[in-house]
Amino acid sequence: MTKRDYYEILGVKKSASPDDIKRAYRRLAMKYHPDKNPGDKAAEEKFKECAEAYEVLSNAEKRKSYDQFGHEGLRGSGMRDYSHMNVQDIGDIFGDIFGDFFGGGRRRSGRRQTANAPRRGYDLETTIELTLEEVSQGVEKSIEFTRQDFCKSCTGSGSAKGKAPSTCPACGGSGQVQKAGLGGFFQMVSTCGHCQGAGKIITNPCKKCRGTGHVPKKRSVSIKIPAGVHEGQGIRVASEGEPGSNGGPRGDLYCYVRIKAHPFLMRDGNDLVSTVPISITQAALGAMIDVPSLTGMKQFKIPPGTQHGNVFRIKNEGLPDLRTSRKGDELIRVMVEVPKNLTSHQEKLLREFAETENKNVLPESKKFFEKLKKYFGND
Ligand SMILES: [Zn+2]
Ligand SMILES: [Zn+2]
Repeated sequence: MTKRDYYEILGVKKSASPDDIKRAYRRLAMKYHPDKNPGDKAAEEKFKECAEAYEVLSNAEKRKSYDQFGHEGLRGSGMRDYSHMNVQDIGDIFGDIFGDFFGGGRRRSGRRQTANAPRRGYDLETTIELTLEEVSQGVEKSIEFTRQDFCKSCTGSGSAKGKAPSTCPACGGSGQVQKAGLGGFFQMVSTCGHCQGAGKIITNPCKKCRGTGHVPKKRSVSIKIPAGVHEGQGIRVASEGEPGSNGGPRGDLYCYVRIKAHPFLMRDGNDLVSTVPISITQAALGAMIDVPSLTGMKQFKIPPGTQHGNVFRIKNEGLPDLRTSRKGDELIRVMVEVPKNLTSHQEKLLREFAETENKNVLPESKKFFEKLKKYFGND
């Protein structure tokens, strides 16, 4: 399926500020909201498309990935599948942005309120640290984290063995109570305070989980990380979050990538940059020098007359592109070190060299000193 450009969907410029994006989304979401377009499938599609575009463009990290790599850049970043999502859920996700319009008010009367409705579990987040070597190869890693899981003792019911929870007498199990509103003209529905909306009362709580039905549990999951990932990118592991309630599905686990600093190599996109010190003689005469690389130390030839700050490129020694797998380069930036503590012999040699230089100075400095003398008239 071909996807439209997110900026185009929201009708904003690439340079749009977060506020512009928010405003544009708000406006379009109001326009296409199914409440305003009952039965209009096309409007619903548009509504979902806008929500997806907004999720990406309202998140600095995702927006950066999208700007760099397009839709491909978001693969594995934990994007929600809006096309199969319920309109109500979309309203819940971005509820804050709609405010009173169709957020709060509607939700109160929506299906979410029912005590026994299946509810999806919470998503979890964790970070994974990778070395540049791992980024270059791609890696499968096992990560450990703690999540709330069903209590085995009570199979998640929260009630001690043999004691089933009883129906809440205050609300009759619905989790809601109704009260007559102002002047008795309408009914106010609110969450039952007796059972906190659960519809059930645990009279004899399970000792292990103290009636919550959940206990923290360590879990280890193996995650495949593709080569070329970037700092801050998230990998979604479906259904490894916390358990849902009333038979609802588990949430997901989002694993965010952090890249450890390398002692010699710095990442610049898919290129690697390393700064290597050389001596003035190596710079002047040329030399074979040792340089770091992701696969170990390498020999690299610098030409005679190398200048401080010169950058040499070693093709295909960088990191693979996440999308195309095409490799970046390694850039060697040389830093000429001027010797500080000369032996008397070295000093003598350099003075002799300086004398030869006087007869035949470098063009650059010759020009400079001639200009200088002329300016101050000391000729
Ligand atoms: Zn109740
Ligand atoms: Zn329990």
